[in-house]
Amino acid sequence: MTMADQDSSGRRIQVANARPEDAGRGLARLPLTVMAELHLAEGDVVEIVGKRATPARVVRPYKEDEGLDVLRLDGLQRANAGVGSGDFVQLNKIEPRPAQRVVFAPAQNNLRLQGNPDALKRVFFQRPLVAGDVIATAGQQQVPPGDMPPHLRQMLAAPAYALQEIRLIVVSTVPKGIVHIDADTEVELRAEYEEPRESRRADVTYDDVGGMAETIDQLREMVELPLRYPELFERLGVDPPKGVMLHGPPGTGKTRLARAVANESEAEFFLINGPEIMGSAYGESEKKLRDIFEEAAKAAPSILFIDEIDSIAPKRGQVTGETEKRLVAQLLTLMDGLEPRTNLVVIAATNRPEAIDEALRRPGRFDREIVVGVPDERGRREILGIHTRGMPLGDRVELAELARMTYGFVGADLAALTREAAIETVRRLMPRLNLEEGTIPPDVLDDLSVTREDFLSAIKR
Ligand code: ADP
Repeated sequence: MTMADQDSSGRRIQVANARPEDAGRGLARLPLTVMAELHLAEGDVVEIVGKRATPARVVRPYKEDEGLDVLRLDGLQRANAGVGSGDFVQLNKIEPRPAQRVVFAPAQNNLRLQGNPDALKRVFFQRPLVAGDVIATAGQQQVPPGDMPPHLRQMLAAPAYALQEIRLIVVSTVPKGIVHIDADTEVELRAEYEEPRESRRADVTYDDVGGMAETIDQLREMVELPLRYPELFERLGVDPPKGVMLHGPPGTGKTRLARAVANESEAEFFLINGPEIMGSAYGESEKKLRDIFEEAAKAAPSILFIDEIDSIAPKRGQVTGETEKRLVAQLLTLMDGLEPRTNLVVIAATNRPEAIDEALRRPGRFDREIVVGVPDERGRREILGIHTRGMPLGDRVELAELARMTYGFVGADLAALTREAAIETVRRLMPRLNLEEGTIPPDVLDDLSVTREDFLSAIKR
């Protein structure tokens, strides 16, 4: 290889977020000009180097991206590369080696997996990966947008693995480095959760919060940017917000959103549940509050999320309980004591903004407010897309139709609906399963799809 070749094989490019439909597919959407410059064709593999390096398969840009010099990555890939939207990465064309062996483990700590490694091999066939990556099993029904040659579409349209999306960490590979799974690869699936090695967790990203594009933009500006680039704010002489208040009914995704912002900001996440912190012994609740503020400040950059803040900080004039009065005062002291340099943002959530002590909303405390409303039809469609990711859907399932039928549902209701539909599917297939044998017959597996009727029965419940 000559020097000239080497020069043309890599380049820096700015990262932007992919659309939700692309989530979990391991794609690198690149401008055609960049593809030409790096001699890349659709389906080729690139290495994306941020704080970490992770591979992806090249596909053409969204129509509206023509002429923009950006690389679109989904949330898992941003986590895998250790970058956020707006950061620059180095992009190198590479040729992944076939893997002799790949070991996976669940990347969710609530999950113990007992699955067929061969099925995983089908799901991740030809998928480039590297040890440390977190990858998701995306379902076959999700056809990625954009014009795509049939061979590539087939390569990316992985079969479903389970009735839900599952996130796995690549524990190790032989050989090391960027590899891809082929027919001869031996795949092992560990049952136990593996703690991701990098500080950045990929359990929830912006891709996992639906119908909130604008809210995410607001939070990125208020929270993510200051957490990620504190020196920038310092130099500009502006103090980033210490406190942000999220208003909205239960189940609209406020907690999930706060977690996503923490993960995308590479910040630690701490959670206080308002009602739970109310201790009985004198001074106990204030101490708990002080301790967690201290812990969060030590771990900075961090986000401290206070759910149902109205229960610990009601209007002082209206409460009779001494505990509440002391807690409000303690919270005010803690907020005022936060140094702008601490790099800790407190996000509080409530459904009753009018019930909160006004002193908390003064400048320097929770002085930013974001409304998280009940999703509209489009939002519901997006949330349904998220919760059916990795779910094998029957031919006649139309998420747009389901979104129309679920007026008034919030995210938590829609999540419950998809779980309920999957349970309907299992009920339907139960008579054909031989539970004593412990394995599912292949013909049943092929039929494993959640149908329109399963969803309709779930809606009726
Ligand atoms: P809140 O904090 O507003 O009460 P949560 O974030 O706890 O709501 O949401 C509960 C669950 O409902 C989430 O774990 C998720 O499964 C689902 N959910 C709620 N809102 C959304 C959303 N906007 N997008 C995707 N899932 C959502």
